[in-house]
Amino acid sequence: MNEIDVISLENEMDLVLAHKRSLNLGQKLGLTLATCTTFATAISEIARTVIEHTNNGSLSIGLVPVDQRFALSGRFTFGSPERFVPADGYFYAQKLVPEFSRIEHDGITIIELRIGIPRSINLNRAKITALAAYFKDAPPINAYEEIKKRNRTLNRIAEEKEEELKRSKIIDQKKTEFISVASHEIKTPITVIKAYSQMIKVMKEGCSDQVKSIVDKIDGQTSKLLALVQQLLDVSKFENGHISYQMERVQIGDLIADMVAVMKHITPNHEFRVSVIKDIKVSIDKLRMEQVFSNLLGNAAKYSRKNTVISIKAGVDTQGFAQISVSDQGIGMNERDIRSVFEKFYRSDDVLNSHAGLGMGLYIASKIVTDHGGRIWVESTPGTGSTFHFTIPASS
Ligand code: ADP
Repeated sequence: MNEIDVISLENEMDLVLAHKRSLNLGQKLGLTLATCTTFATAISEIARTVIEHTNNGSLSIGLVPVDQRFALSGRFTFGSPERFVPADGYFYAQKLVPEFSRIEHDGITIIELRIGIPRSINLNRAKITALAAYFKDAPPINAYEEIKKRNRTLNRIAEEKEEELKRSKIIDQKKTEFISVASHEIKTPITVIKAYSQMIKVMKEGCSDQVKSIVDKIDGQTSKLLALVQQLLDVSKFENGHISYQMERVQIGDLIADMVAVMKHITPNHEFRVSVIKDIKVSIDKLRMEQVFSNLLGNAAKYSRKNTVISIKAGVDTQGFAQISVSDQGIGMNERDIRSVFEKFYRSDDVLNSHAGLGMGLYIASKIVTDHGGRIWVESTPGTGSTFHFTIPASS
């Protein structure tokens, strides 16, 4: 069939559309008023029967070539209902048109009715194409059709978006799998290099001071590499939900004191100021929480000049949560950075070329904090400094 228009048959309102569109097609073809009305009436009667039995029917109206000429055709397609009981209208329609057929195949019913078009109406491919274009662009017959058209467009957009989302989820999953496999593969040889460099470091003889200093550097760099690979592994663990926590009760002040002692060793050119309210106990996974502290303290040092102050405060907020704040006097961040720093792999444009990093630390820190039932946020002013705050439930 050379399809001119398609109407989905869902409810009574579609009867009007089916009637008007088929009448309009007859008129456009130049058929007599009687033929147009007969065709449109037969179409409406069958449409009514289809709507009574199912809400998944559709009507295609168009032109079918038959013996060197064309016939006007209306073809109904719908999922065969368990019981199809044709009403009077159905038999009336059958009598109205010269050709009527009904077939059932594979659970689908197709009813087709046809009226021959006189040869005097000269139809050719160009005319049929023009007719199809006319119906495609025809304005909606009524408000219902307008809503129906918009609905169809919206549904199509929703389907496309869903498909897009599915595709990007699959790509993301593959990326995470790749990161996980690659990090595992990289971790093994680095661990071996680290073990050998430590063996050389403790060798008393056969190693000059120069060699020892080189081995020290190799050891330091492999530690950094290992930390990076561990972060990559953590990202994929969080993505896959494969993270487990070993909770223990800890004095937050003790943990902060330990972390600051380590940081003073790593970044001796910053001044650390600690102000902690005594006796705040929290239930945490200590190793994971150390990761949060070392990321926040490490960033505070990395993104500020030497000899500036890094302050660590701990207290209890109004809801009884332990609240920890890490402030620096560094480069600060703009509004966009503030909104995005906790996203995976996010790095501010300002640091891309000046500071090494992969944008994983804050993403991991935020996951750890939220998994502990707390929240993390940042306040910052460009050129002045940043304060990262996070909370964790205090244990009574
Ligand atoms: P990385 O430091 O490896 O880039 P992070 O996830 O720890 O990754 O940080 C993400 C981004 O947040 C950094 O690239 C930087 O732009 C910004 N950032 C984090 N901490 C600070 C800070 N204390 N001061 C200024 N910018 C910061």
